[in-house]
Amino acid sequence: MMEGDDNRMSAANNAPRCTAKSKRTGVRCNGPAVTGWTVCRFHGAGGGHPAGKAHPSWRHGMRSREWIEMRRLVNELGREARAIERII
Ligand SMILES: [Zn+2]
Repeated sequence: MMEGDDNRMSAANNAPRCTAKSKRTGVRCNGPAVTGWTVCRFHGAGGGHPAGKAHPSWRHGMRSREWIEMRRLVNELGREARAIERII
């Protein structure tokens, strides 16, 4: 996060800022707003359907883990089906 701060600041100078404010402290987010939105990705831009890369990584990780688990199950079922065929 830290090493990208300089680049992000100069890019944000030309881009519209996120207008989201912290309810507790009142501090503005000031992150770069998504085109067509007044807020950044993390404050609702995209209507809850951000692109894959915009997703928080934990969610993406969970999804890929689910996929791996799903494929494992499908493989096992296939193996079982073949074993049953051999018995019949
Ligand atoms: Zn924001």
